[in-house]
Amino acid sequence: MNEADFIWMNGEIVRWEDARVHVLTHALHYGSGVFEGIRAYETDRGTAVFRHRDHLARLARSAELYYMDLPFTQEKLREATHELIRRNELRSCYIRPIAFRGYGEMGLFPLNTPVEVVIAVWPWGAYLGEEGQRHGIRVKVSSWRRMSPDSFIPQAKACGQYLNSILAKVESAKAGYDEAILLDDQGHVSEGSGENVFVVRDGVISTPPATASILEGITSASVKQIAADLGFEVVERDIARGELFQADEMFLTGTAAEVVPVREVDDHLLGEPGELTQAIQKRFFEAIKGQREEYLEWLDIVDVEQPSVSQEQVGTA
Ligand code: PMP
Repeated sequence: MNEADFIWMNGEIVRWEDARVHVLTHALHYGSGVFEGIRAYETDRGTAVFRHRDHLARLARSAELYYMDLPFTQEKLREATHELIRRNELRSCYIRPIAFRGYGEMGLFPLNTPVEVVIAVWPWGAYLGEEGQRHGIRVKVSSWRRMSPDSFIPQAKACGQYLNSILAKVESAKAGYDEAILLDDQGHVSEGSGENVFVVRDGVISTPPATASILEGITSASVKQIAADLGFEVVERDIARGELFQADEMFLTGTAAEVVPVREVDDHLLGEPGELTQAIQKRFFEAIKGQREEYLEWLDIVDVEQPSVSQEQVGTA
């Protein structure tokens, strides 16, 4: 990975290589953590964190769903992220806040285990490749179903839940595809291993509803807004696997992946990115780069004028 210089750990900025945890950390054994994936982009107004407050609000919701009290407010985490971006001198980056049950007690009752919070930032390019973003990716419907809401809370972005995504991702990669699409426990289209799904048929854009065990994506919400602003109809409804093969267009959305066209599903050719996909993709990239007034409220600009913590304070925790 692309290392940066510093990581924010429980209120302190420490060197990248010093951000360590004990091997008996609760989350390492039981997946008892929640996290976010956020991006910051270089804009004319400075480095802009995309929908920062929305991501931190989802982090807090994920924590609450697993009975975890966050020891820092969302505002404190927001300021810490700004500080970290400044200290690492990054103009654009991926941001990974994680809150997890730390060292102190083993066993499945987690509520007495201290909660640790870490924020890392580092440069990360197109998750599914530049080529994929331009010409579309090849996806495969996974033999693994997206976790049932009877067993987990799909709306939470929780660490252990990603074992489900990992099974699907590995399966699709070993079979030679770029990404996996998971069906929900009812057999309806749910989402990618780390992206929401959109299909276009006869000029109408459809995406699975919250009841299809999806993580309600922030990119997806932005794309829905953009599509509506462009005058396209967006419908949330159950989508059958077979509809993917017959789609006029299909694309995936996610913070890491951004907006990625799909050119092939289960070896059915959809072709090069279509008109709607391209229009949405173009508007999305303009929005994240601060090139459109109407979406400026999505950008949280990192103030470079703020004084940084002095070098001597590093690692004094
Ligand atoms: N679904 C899953 C399982 C994900 O991990 C992600 C990435 N966070 C998404 C959907 C897309 O969410 P967002 O647009 O908020 O990144």
